[in-house]
Amino acid sequence: MPMNATSPAENTVAPAIVWFRNDLRVDDNRALLHAAESGCPVIPLFVLEDAHDTLPLGGAQRWWLHQSLLSLSAKLDTLGAALVLRRGDPEEVLDEIIRSSGADRVFWNRRYLPGLIERDTAIKSSLRDRAMTVESFHGQLLHEPTQLRTGSGGPYRVYTPFWRAFCERPPPRPPSDAPRALVPFHGSLVSDQLADWTLLPAGPDWSTGLSEEWEPGEEGAKTRLERFLAEGLGSYGSMRDRPGVPGTSRLSPHIAFGEISPFRIWQEVENVRNEVSHPDLTVFRKELLWREFSYHLLVNFPSLGNDNFNSDFDAFPWLGAGDRLARWQRGETGYPIVDAGMRELWQTGWMHNRVRMIVGSFLVKHLLIDWRLGEAWFRDTLVDADPASNAASWQWIAGSGADAAPYFRIFSPILQGRKFDPDGAYVRRFVPELAAIPDKFLHTPWTAPEPVLAEAGIELGRSYPLPIVEHGAARKRALAAYKTMKEIA
Ligand code: FAD
Repeated sequence: MPMNATSPAENTVAPAIVWFRNDLRVDDNRALLHAAESGCPVIPLFVLEDAHDTLPLGGAQRWWLHQSLLSLSAKLDTLGAALVLRRGDPEEVLDEIIRSSGADRVFWNRRYLPGLIERDTAIKSSLRDRAMTVESFHGQLLHEPTQLRTGSGGPYRVYTPFWRAFCERPPPRPPSDAPRALVPFHGSLVSDQLADWTLLPAGPDWSTGLSEEWEPGEEGAKTRLERFLAEGLGSYGSMRDRPGVPGTSRLSPHIAFGEISPFRIWQEVENVRNEVSHPDLTVFRKELLWREFSYHLLVNFPSLGNDNFNSDFDAFPWLGAGDRLARWQRGETGYPIVDAGMRELWQTGWMHNRVRMIVGSFLVKHLLIDWRLGEAWFRDTLVDADPASNAASWQWIAGSGADAAPYFRIFSPILQGRKFDPDGAYVRRFVPELAAIPDKFLHTPWTAPEPVLAEAGIELGRSYPLPIVEHGAARKRALAAYKTMKEIA
C-alpha cells in the first residue's frame, strides 16, 4: 500500500534509512538519533527475515514481535515518521528502498549473532562500495563482546573474572533521550500490512495468557522498570530466588527485543543508588552482566547453541526423548515444582530463573535428555528467548558449558521446591489440582496418606501424575551416565 501520497518531487534532501532489528525503541537508540541529528528525512524500516534468519523466532516471540511493532510504529508516528515493514532478504529490501526513495545513507545498531554479524558486515561493504554512507552503532550490550580479553588476550570462560574486568573499565555511557521529532519522508513507499505476516497464533489462539501477563513495547518496558525500581530492587538479593513472589524485574523479553536499552537500565538503577542497599544493587547488576557474559561466549564460540562447549560431553549417553520429553513439556512429571515451571512457561511465555534451573536440571539429569532438546523447547515458548542466554544457560545446567555447574551437583526437585516455594504459592498457582493439599505434602504428593489426598480432591495417577522417575534412582543413574562419559572421553 502507498504509505504517503505526496509526490517524490517534494524531496529536496536524500533520506536516511534507519534499519530496526532487535532495537525496537526510540529511547537511547543511537542509529535513530544519528539519523535525526543529520537533519534529513528519516525512513524507519523493519525487515522480517524469517526465511533468511539463522535462528527463526519461536511462536511466543512471533506474538511479541507483532505487538512490539505496533507499539514502535505508534511511537514513530508521534515523532513524524512512518514505519515501513517489509519481508524478505534485507539486502534486497534495502536495495529496493534505496532505489525508490533516493536514500543515500543507512544506519543501524549492531547485533551479535553468529551468521548475522558476517551478513551485516557484508551488507555494509556492499552499500559502501556504491558510495552510500553506512554507520552502525553500539547499543544492544553494555560492552562489545570482543572487547574484554583475559591477560593472555583470549576470551573469558569464567564469569567472575569477566565481571571484574567489566568493573575495571569506565562505567557504561549515559543513555540518550529519544529524538524530539523526525523529518518525515514525503515520497511514496510500499509497506507490508503487519497482519499479513501472520505472526499471531490462529486456530487455536493460545496467546490469552501472554496478553494477560505482558505489555510488549517501550511503554511496557518502562512501566516494568519503574515498578521494579520502586518495589523490587530493594529486596532483590533476598527475593530473587522465590518464584511465588514478584522478586525480579521481568524485563527479559523487553530487553530481548531491545525495547529498553541496557544503558537506560544501568542509569536508572544508578539514580536510585541511595535508596537501596549496595548488595541488592550489585546482585542485580551482576545478573545483567550474565547476559553480557553469554554474548561474550556466543561471539567467541559461535557454535555454543549446538555443540558442547566441553567436548567430553559429546560422549554423554543421553537417552532418547520419546513420551518423557512430552510429559516434561506439558508439566506432567509428577514433581510439582517442575510441573509448575513448565506450565508457567506454557501459559505466560516466561519462567522464573530459579525454576528454569530446576526444570533444566530435571530434564538433563533426571530424564537424561539432551540439553539441546530443552534449549529448543525454550526457544519456541519463551517470550524472552535469547540465542546467547538460552544456549549458555542450558550448557551451564547440563555441565557441558563454560564455567558450568558441576555435573554431579544434582538438584533435588523436592528440596528445591521446599526451599524456594515454602508456602507453595507458586505451585498452587500453576498446578491448581494440588491447591488443597497441606504444605507438608505439597512437594511430595505421593507421600500423602490416602485420606489427605481424598480430602484435597487428588487422585494420584489420574488428577495428578505419579512421579515420572524416582528421585534417588534417577540421581544414581545420572551419576553412572556421567562416569561412563568420563571413561569414554
Ligand atoms: P532479573 O533477575 O530481573 O534480571 C535482569 C536481567 O538480567 C534479565 O532480564 C536478563 O536480561 C538478565 N539476566 C538475569 N539472569 C540472567 C542469566 N542467568 N543469564 C543471562 N541473563 C540474565 N534469559 C534470557 O533473557 N533469555 C533466555 O532465553 C534465557 N534462557 C534461559 C535458560 C535457562 C535454562 C536458564 C537457567 C536461564 C535462562 N535465562 C534466559 C536467564 C534468566 O532465567 C532470565 O534472564 C531471567 O529469568 C529473566 O527474568 P527477569 O527479567 O525477571 O530477570
